[in-house]
Amino acid sequence: MREKSCPPAGRTGADPASEIKGRLTAREVFLFYGFQPDRSGFLRCPFHAGDRHGSLKVYEGDRGWHCFGCGRGGSVIDFVMARFGLGFRDACRKLNEDFRLELPARRPSRAEITAWRRARRREAEARDRAAAQVRRMAGEHRFWWAVKQQFEPRTEGDLERVPPIYTEAVNRLPYLEHWLDGRLGLV
Ligand SMILES: [Zn+2]
Repeated sequence: MREKSCPPAGRTGADPASEIKGRLTAREVFLFYGFQPDRSGFLRCPFHAGDRHGSLKVYEGDRGWHCFGCGRGGSVIDFVMARFGLGFRDACRKLNEDFRLELPARRPSRAEITAWRRARRREAEARDRAAAQVRRMAGEHRFWWAVKQQFEPRTEGDLERVPPIYTEAVNRLPYLEHWLDGRLGLV
């Protein structure tokens, strides 16, 4: 299924979790477990109820997945943990077996575990920061959108005294929309 030339994690000292994330795309993992993303990578989230529109985005390559409805997301390992109710190591083991990655099942050293934990924490922090920024920008977008609706000139008379806040909304919205569009694919 995968190139045999890829060295086993045990020999290189690579973190098996990074190895798994480097070798499996979110897309192939979702498909393998019976979840079919649409053309733009979206599907109905199995982790929150009533997701009629498909809020879960499956990204290309090793960028994982994210649900804009319930906020769950992460790597292929996070998906298997959530889907099958497994702990981190069991999820790695399951992916290793199901995809025949042939990663060695030796016990990692204490130093390796510490380093992996640190790497996972850093990843989680980076994801949280990115998600917080998207939420901030989405909030700003909602605000300026409401301003635009409220102060939209409706009569000839209105056109002669357009409030500055309306002009500001009109100036800001395209940038916010463009920014969010690239990140959400939903706006
Ligand atoms: Zn969800």
